[in-house]
Amino acid sequence: MSRSVLVTGGNRGIGLAIARAFADAGDKVAITYRSGDPAELAGEGFLAVRCDITDAEQVEQAYKEIEEKHGPVEVLVANAGVTKDQLLMRMSEEDFTSVLDTNLTGTFRVVKRANRGMLRAKKGRVVLISSVVGLLGSAGQANYAASKAGLVGFARSLARELGSRNITFNVVAPGFVDTDMTKVLTEEQRAGIVAQVPLGRYAQPDEIAAAVRFLASDDASYITGAVIPVDGGLGMGH
Ligand code: NDP
Repeated sequence: MSRSVLVTGGNRGIGLAIARAFADAGDKVAITYRSGDPAELAGEGFLAVRCDITDAEQVEQAYKEIEEKHGPVEVLVANAGVTKDQLLMRMSEEDFTSVLDTNLTGTFRVVKRANRGMLRAKKGRVVLISSVVGLLGSAGQANYAASKAGLVGFARSLARELGSRNITFNVVAPGFVDTDMTKVLTEEQRAGIVAQVPLGRYAQPDEIAAAVRFLASDDASYITGAVIPVDGGLGMGH
């Protein structure tokens, strides 16, 4: 059965691996992008929709296009996210609010819009991409960690609110993954992180995608409100 799947930030990194995993399984996959080459993304078989999730109007337009071409979104993966690391003393209000506006409020925008079709269909799967640092905390990432912790309360509230409508809300909390986001770290920082990971390495994006696909599959029909760590043991189940 081919479902209408939307992955925000599916143009690169973890989002791209997630989009490929659904496409490989035969689903109709739409992705949002801001950067990158839409022709290249279309070449992979995705419906690439330009959308900045900090802008409610762009979110609305993206959904209209997806609904027209693929039908209402049945599986939503809210993956788009940013970091703006800084110690609190030096963190500006803009550093804080812009990260919250993308990672948390941006997720609210896309989830709220997806919900319309899911309520009508009386089913839906929503997976939010949080982070191990949302629950562990991370010096220099108070804005990012707050946004990622916020996703847990958000998902669990919606799991309660919409469980009776057969819509599940789950969170995947990756540890350190080899993508552009972590390329900015120095070799020394990387070595320090790896030393704390029981599996002794970074994750590959595909390893995050596998957990997301599971949560959207029939095998996960009785799982909602869960936080699934995919972090090599860094958070020890948290
Ligand atoms: P990347 O930096 O490689 O990619 C970020 C993605 O988010 C891009 O597709 C980007 O689109 C998109 N994005 C950012 N801001 C917006 C916006 N305002 N509107 C629409 N799209 C936006 O990061 P990763 O692939 O590593 O991260 C993906 C998710 O996983 C993020 O939520 C991140 O917080 C989380 N994560 C990552 C970890 C890691 O170690 N890499 C660990 C734990 C969680 P564009 O290309 O157009 O800018």
